[in-house]
Amino acid sequence: MNSLKKVELEEMIRTVPNFPSEGILFRDITTALKDKKGLKLIIEDFTKRYENKGIDYVLGADARGFIFGAALAYNIGAGFVPARKPGKLPAKTVREEYTLEYGTNAIEVHEDAIEKGAKVVIIDDLLATGGTAKAMINLMNKLEANIYELAFLIELEDLKGRELIGDYSVYSILKY
Ligand code: AMP
Repeated sequence: MNSLKKVELEEMIRTVPNFPSEGILFRDITTALKDKKGLKLIIEDFTKRYENKGIDYVLGADARGFIFGAALAYNIGAGFVPARKPGKLPAKTVREEYTLEYGTNAIEVHEDAIEKGAKVVIIDDLLATGGTAKAMINLMNKLEANIYELAFLIELEDLKGRELIGDYSVYSILKY
């Protein structure tokens, strides 16, 4: 995405101080999603990056990763797999605990969601500490999937999520 479009997109993202707790600057993407141009800019950028790469599945993080993940999967002809908060998936799951910028949680996928060796793009709206991303990496490793890259709309560089992610390739459209 060129820098002009990035500025345009940045202006569509609302920053809400002290949500959900004191000291957090919450980057609210709903204002970019509701903008016809914003949603298109985001999905077209991800599509350009991952089309014709032989991606089998897009793994989206609950819940905002579902929005970009499903649209991306549709565009590139891949399947979409949701990584969900505990207790939401009905069949047998694998599970990973993780630490959030604010609190802790766990994430699950169906154990038969992705076949061994399948090529996967992991997607979420935002990379903060990298705890969520790391949990999704661990889930994919449990299923012996082949992680192609991790994709985010926003990366909060100060929180050094990339360091936690380690050697996996990371792509982010906007860096804060
Ligand atoms: P982390 O696991 O610390 O990388 O946090 C990433 C997850 O938490 C993403 O799913 C984001 O949606 C959410 N998140 C963390 N920090 C923020 C923030 N400052 N603004 C908006 N969402 C955030």
